[in-house]
Formats: sequence, C-alpha cells, structure tokens
Amino acid sequence: MASDRPGEASAGSRVARTKNGFAPKTCVSCGRDFEWRKKWARDWDDVKYCSERCKKNSKSAR
Ligand SMILES: [Zn+2]
Repeated sequence: MASDRPGEASAGSRVARTKNGFAPKTCVSCGRDFEWRKKWARDWDDVKYCSERCKKNSKSAR
C-alpha cells in the first residue's frame, strides 16, 4: 500500500516567523528556530538561546 499523503508538509512543527519586524533566530543549543519575544526586545541581538534552559545547557556543556 503505497499511498501518497497530500498535504503532509509540516505536521505539528510550527515555522518560526518574523515578529514585529524581527526575524527568527536559531537556538545555538538545541538548533530550533525561535521567534522574537517581547521580553527580548532590549537585547535581541544578544539572544542566542530559545530558552533559559538551553542557555544553561550550553554553558554546562563544555
Ligand atoms: Zn534551544
């Protein structure tokens, strides 16, 4: 039974989009794309991780 599934583009995975004029970034820890958040408005340039957890992960690793 070889059945092509139409529209199996991205089930479940959201695509990060540009928000408020800021393009999404890729987390250097987990490699996922994340969107701009209001809490990062001030230091978006310095944001490299999608979450505090990733930040810690990256630091503890090596
Ligand atoms: Zn991450």
